[in-house]
Amino acid sequence: MAFEGLSERLQETMKKITGKGKVSEADVKEMTREVRLALLEADVNYKVVKDLIKRIKERAVGQEVMESLTPGQQVIKVVRDELTELMGGEQSKIAVANKPPTVIMMVGLQGAGKTTTTGKLANHLRKNSNRNPLLVAADVYRPAAIDQLETLGEQLDLPVYSKGTEANPVDIANEAIEKAKAEHHDYVIIDTAGRLHVDEDLMDELQQVKTNMNPDEIFLVVDSMTGQDAVNVAESFDSQLDISGVILTKLDGDTRGGAALSIRSVTGKPIKFAGMGEKLDQLEPFHPDRMASRILGMGDVFSLIEKAETEVDEKKAKEMQDKMKSASFTFEDFLEQMDQVKNMGPLDELVNMMPGANKMKGMKNMQMDDKQLSHIEAIIQSMTKKERIEPNIINASRKKRIAQGSGTSVAQVNRLLKQFEEMKKMMKQMTSSKKGKKGGMNLP
Ligand code: GDP
Repeated sequence: MAFEGLSERLQETMKKITGKGKVSEADVKEMTREVRLALLEADVNYKVVKDLIKRIKERAVGQEVMESLTPGQQVIKVVRDELTELMGGEQSKIAVANKPPTVIMMVGLQGAGKTTTTGKLANHLRKNSNRNPLLVAADVYRPAAIDQLETLGEQLDLPVYSKGTEANPVDIANEAIEKAKAEHHDYVIIDTAGRLHVDEDLMDELQQVKTNMNPDEIFLVVDSMTGQDAVNVAESFDSQLDISGVILTKLDGDTRGGAALSIRSVTGKPIKFAGMGEKLDQLEPFHPDRMASRILGMGDVFSLIEKAETEVDEKKAKEMQDKMKSASFTFEDFLEQMDQVKNMGPLDELVNMMPGANKMKGMKNMQMDDKQLSHIEAIIQSMTKKERIEPNIINASRKKRIAQGSGTSVAQVNRLLKQFEEMKKMMKQMTSSKKGKKGGMNLP
């Protein structure tokens, strides 16, 4: 399994700290010492480890408080977050050219898995994104590489453009792109030459292909089992070709994980995919967060952490409610909060979270679904700032302008204005009833 060795050691360390109700500086010191050793043993770049440990220490000591987690669990959250960041944070998606075809150039040393990965990537694009890729055999030095790609094409039932070993790689790639345009292939994946070592001739040739093709992506394929060598290879390819991403192969056999954990930090380039086996469907988009969780292997603690994170969102929702309750809530606030509103679910649910609201007149009119929500967003975005704050200035001609700007109708604008007024009225009623008279609101 990927990262088995590293994972076991880190899990041991994390276990010691999970249950702690209090985490002292000495505990953090001990934990980071063990994490540091585990990472170094996993062949993670020395400087990368040093920076990571420094950040973990700073955050674990002066950490933000999450009420529902024990201090030990919070420390684990810090380690998980930092490992995620180390591997790039967010998942990095594959480019899509404005005008098809999207051109991907595959580069790497011989034996890294470049040709196999070219086939796997085409398979992935077809299967998961419904794309129609064309494979291109541009490794003109090795007839075996051309044969290999053609065999992969047959296995996958995908077309391969090749011209044997006599043609020039730039011409091959150019002709392949013309063919792709004529035959409506939306991706062209070029398998370029590989060598045993990084050498000048290879880089010159790749640079020529790059200059001529202007590819949307240059993916460097490296063998993760080679640890820091993979990182060095990535550095030299990147300095000469300015690669756009890395594909790590053979992660299934990599028990240490040194390359996966260092490459992003050292090169600044994201890991886009990971090869998880020899089969053609064993290529996975690389998700730093899932990988970090997998390395730490603490499913139960992570579900707790997720819950705590949801509670933070709920707190935000509560702040939003407070604002809605006060009469000061304007369309301007509404727009600002739109993302949160979307995260929280339909607006009617939000309103229903407020005590007594479900019994109130007018609530029936407030049922909204996601589509309506996007109309609402468009309508508010088409208002001027002044209109958002003082909606009563919105006269007939303004309504017409807003409807036009938002691609809705005047009737829809009217409905939103009415609902918003009703909502505000109710909010006001509720706040005043809370403050004052016993007996509650003036329910009908
Ligand atoms: P190239 O010389 O870089 O084109 O490398 P190949 O595509 O010929 O691959 C070299 C070897 O690595 C082959 O035996 C592949 O099956 C194997 N390989 C490629 N990717 C993976 C992977 O993700 N996991 C495993 N276990 N083997 C892989």
